[in-house]
Amino acid sequence: MDRVAIVTGASRGIGREIAKELAYKGIKVIANYNKSIEEAEKLKKELMQEGIEIDIFMADVSKREEGKSLVEFALKKYGKIDILINNAGISEYKLFTDETDEDWNRVINTNLYSAFMMCQEVIPNMVRNQSGCIVNISSIWGQVGSSLEVIYSVSKAGMDGLTKALAKELGPSNIRVNSIAPGIINTDMNKNLSKTDIERIEEDIPLGKIGLPKDIAKCVGWMVDEKYTTGQIIGINGGWCIN
Ligand code: NAD
Repeated sequence: MDRVAIVTGASRGIGREIAKELAYKGIKVIANYNKSIEEAEKLKKELMQEGIEIDIFMADVSKREEGKSLVEFALKKYGKIDILINNAGISEYKLFTDETDEDWNRVINTNLYSAFMMCQEVIPNMVRNQSGCIVNISSIWGQVGSSLEVIYSVSKAGMDGLTKALAKELGPSNIRVNSIAPGIINTDMNKNLSKTDIERIEEDIPLGKIGLPKDIAKCVGWMVDEKYTTGQIIGINGGWCIN
């Protein structure tokens, strides 16, 4: 039977590209979206025109009950989950001393708790099947820290910690867990950056340009097929962070 994948936050940006990459491989994709039903339906329709069917499912993955219903939908329809891509995320750009408890809760719940919770919900099925692949979309800022994005950086460093620890715990069950840590990728998340900001950043990137959602999706495409990589944080950043 075809493999089954859940991609969170898949209506636009990197998640959308990952959903397409997996669908083109013949994987049954459940593309999760939070509010943007129009964008999710557009993705479904676009793939339908190419003869590929995907499911779209609304859930706020910062909430256990909604994440649970997403996993239940997948299990009811397909009976298994082979791949989980924790992509949903939000950024926050503020002076650290201006950050509030509400900011902390919103960013940590959306970026980090969602990954913890979604892993908890899918892992029992993966363990039963003795097979699984989890990819956490973290960030270069989790690796090196970003001024004015402290909570975001914490959330992404937390995701990388989750990746490393879970990879050890789940390796014996043949479940691989990895992070992809993108640099700056051209999506709505960076729409606050001016053309001049981008040009300045590109001067610092060894490959001389910011990335595209496809650059991340291609790596996910590789990760779901290969069999001997786990617990790794793969930086896709044009050489901006080399460690
Ligand atoms: P984006 O804002 O275009 O997409 C984020 C997606 O997550 C949206 O579809 C949004 O609706 C969804 N989402 C947000 N909160 C959600 C929730 N509670 N439940 C379900 N879905 C939710 O941004 P993007 O650049 O495509 O970001 C995708 C991931 O990549 C994020 O985790 C982000 O932190 C990470 N990332 C992006 C960059 C970048 O430069 N764009 C760099 C490093 C990491």
